[in-house]
Amino acid sequence: MDFHFTPQQEAFRQEIRSWLQKELTPEMRQQYAAAGGEGFSREFSRKLGQKGWIGLAWPREYGGQALGYIERTIYLEEMLLAAAPIAYHHFADRQMGPSIMLFGTEEQKREFLPRIVRGECGFCIGYSEPGAGSDLASLQTRAVQDGDDYVINGTKIWTSYAHLQDYIWLAVRTNPDAPKHRGISVFIVDLKTPGITIRPIINMAGVHSFNQVFFDNVRVPKTAMVGEKDRGWYVVASNLDFERSGIERIAQYRPLWEQVLEFARLTTRGGKPLTSDPRIRNRLAELEVEYQVGRWLSYYTAWLQSKGVVPNKEASMIKVFGADWTQRMLQTAMEVLGLYGQLTQDSKWAPLAGRVQRAWLASFSASIAGGTNEVQRNIIALRGLGLPRG
Ligand SMILES: Cc1cc2nc3c(=O)[nH]c(=O)nc-3n(C[C@H](O)[C@H](O)[C@H](O)COP(=O)(O)OP(=O)(O)OC[C@H]3O[C@@H](n4cnc5c(N)ncnc54)[C@H](O)[C@@H]3O)c2cc1C
Repeated sequence: MDFHFTPQQEAFRQEIRSWLQKELTPEMRQQYAAAGGEGFSREFSRKLGQKGWIGLAWPREYGGQALGYIERTIYLEEMLLAAAPIAYHHFADRQMGPSIMLFGTEEQKREFLPRIVRGECGFCIGYSEPGAGSDLASLQTRAVQDGDDYVINGTKIWTSYAHLQDYIWLAVRTNPDAPKHRGISVFIVDLKTPGITIRPIINMAGVHSFNQVFFDNVRVPKTAMVGEKDRGWYVVASNLDFERSGIERIAQYRPLWEQVLEFARLTTRGGKPLTSDPRIRNRLAELEVEYQVGRWLSYYTAWLQSKGVVPNKEASMIKVFGADWTQRMLQTAMEVLGLYGQLTQDSKWAPLAGRVQRAWLASFSASIAGGTNEVQRNIIALRGLGLPRG
């Protein structure tokens, strides 16, 4: 088994790294942070589009580069290591684009795919509802056909970036009489359509990243439906596999993890460096080993994708492993920082400018977002281990 990247892949990584060093100076970071939500910049996405780095693994006929999934993972890993603001195009690149290629009409492919690869089209995900999360198939938002249109009523919740994106990838009920998995359809809805109200939800770290979205007689043309009427469950399920399988589950906290390691190396307590305490050394070493395991799990999944396999149990494995690692790492980081670690970014005494405290609060949601860890473990048990349904 050879774990090395090819010389071309190494050169590609270096090219991205050098470009990021130029494009993500501290001033640019400040400018992007001032312009919008965390990790979100239309301008930066457009620049990536111009470089040809969005849709890297997509076929050329859809504006992609026809590169492999390993190259795409290298690109994504470098973006995350540099904390680049990619949220505007990332969901479309990762899941909506591939779903449109699989299920979309020719018209939808022509309308959306070129704009996605140019970094000029962003999506949020409208799946969860107040009464439907893990049991997503029980969703109640209704779409009723009226001539050439559908009229949508209902509400979606926890919709990340709805206040910043252009479109919502929306799962709705089109047949209330069919068994619940068989009456769902997916629509692409412009978030500026009359009748849509977006209300912010502030998370416990004090950040506005998700929302509740209300649909009040929202009229969309029937051509906005992706895939067949009432067969949307397949569109939703494959879209979720694209969502869960990436390296972002583990790599997004790498920059902070490295800052925590640096802090532990440089800080003394009781006259001794923190890292001379064997309990701290062991915890840090364990976390680093686990990080590398998660990283290779992501590359393994990318390799499977490059062989034409749609990751399923592997996507769930990465999701659980990444969420668990994130929570363990941030818990350890808080302990390493000591009592001062609880201070928020506005205190001059906050170590690492309060970044760990903020990430620690946000990390509780890692085992919920994108499908809870319990649900992922059920998928691994059923589809990975072949265990019977409980
Ligand atoms: C940060 C964040 C961002 C999000 N962004 C989006 C987004 O952009 N779009 C979107 O549509 N949704 C989004 N979500 C919603 C997310 O997908 C749901 O919160 C998640 O699927 C769980 O659903 P729920 O909150 O309704 O919890 P429930 O489904 O009510 O679950 C409650 C508890 O019961 C457990 N449970 C439920 N069923 C089972 C089972 N069969 N076996 C074992 N345990 C079970 C769960 O694991 C959980 O612990 C986001 C959530 C978070 C936290």
